[in-house]
Amino acid sequence: MHPPDFAAIRQFKNVWGNLRNISIWDFGSLINSQEAAVTAAYAWGLVPKTMSCPQCRRMMHAQERSSQKLGFRWRCRRKPHRTAVYVSPTKGTFFEHVKVSFEQALKMMFMFVRDEKLGLARKDCGIGSKTTAVDLYSYFREVCDVTQDHDFIPIGGRDDIVEVDESHLFKRKYHRGRRLRLSRHVWVFGCCSRLTKHMWIERIKDKSRPTLDRIIGGRVKRGSYIMSDYHRSYINIDRRLGFKGHGRVNHSRRFVEGCTWIRGVRPRLGDPIHNNPRYRSCKVHINNIERSWRELKKKLRTCMFPMVGNT
Ligand SMILES: [Zn+2]
Repeated sequence: MHPPDFAAIRQFKNVWGNLRNISIWDFGSLINSQEAAVTAAYAWGLVPKTMSCPQCRRMMHAQERSSQKLGFRWRCRRKPHRTAVYVSPTKGTFFEHVKVSFEQALKMMFMFVRDEKLGLARKDCGIGSKTTAVDLYSYFREVCDVTQDHDFIPIGGRDDIVEVDESHLFKRKYHRGRRLRLSRHVWVFGCCSRLTKHMWIERIKDKSRPTLDRIIGGRVKRGSYIMSDYHRSYINIDRRLGFKGHGRVNHSRRFVEGCTWIRGVRPRLGDPIHNNPRYRSCKVHINNIERSWRELKKKLRTCMFPMVGNT
């Protein structure tokens, strides 16, 4: 094949950001051959379109070579090198250690993004070996894990309210999945911006104050207004970590604990207060994060997502 053909690349461009919304039929007709898959991989920046020589830093040239996965390898034979320098086009990319074809890998990515069950995905992508499919899915999860952490921007802000909560993920009694067997009690902690709905969810070992402080301190911007339940660990969190304030809801009694006046929040987070334009009257609840727990638990039941029990 070729190093990228720029004309062919264009049609794939707008699909990437849309991966969640595109139908499986459209995706299938777009990625319908190994060649299309490779072009898409270039278009989506999964494989570099150019390569600079690791030794002299100048552009390398493509050398056709049918034994290579992509039909070529990068080569530099400029004067300073005693022998030519070669680099595989998949070097340092997702595809470097993947055992399946580009077409299968992209299709599996799509299935993964759609939360498709592993067995179904494997069948539809034509992957014979179960181990290969399992490895691919855990590789995807790993990538998500790392990028989540790396690309994360703290949520909240001076004009925002952040809901925090911890939750117990139940273990399924008769589950035979090998990864699930270990888990007895799995606790997760999450925080959610009421303004942007951006959130952070993390598995926690315990619900102690140091554990929760470390996460909230790292993931929530200073000056945010915090809402939580009555768990002991949250007491005085606003003063401890430099937040604007702290509203608490007692779940044993009700789900919305009235309203509280908060200074300087975005208008759509609360009702205006007569004669006091700097404050807004905001409802005290953590319903957004509670809803996320419900969705998470539903997903854990329906998908074979071994997110429970990695330790
Ligand atoms: Zn060179």
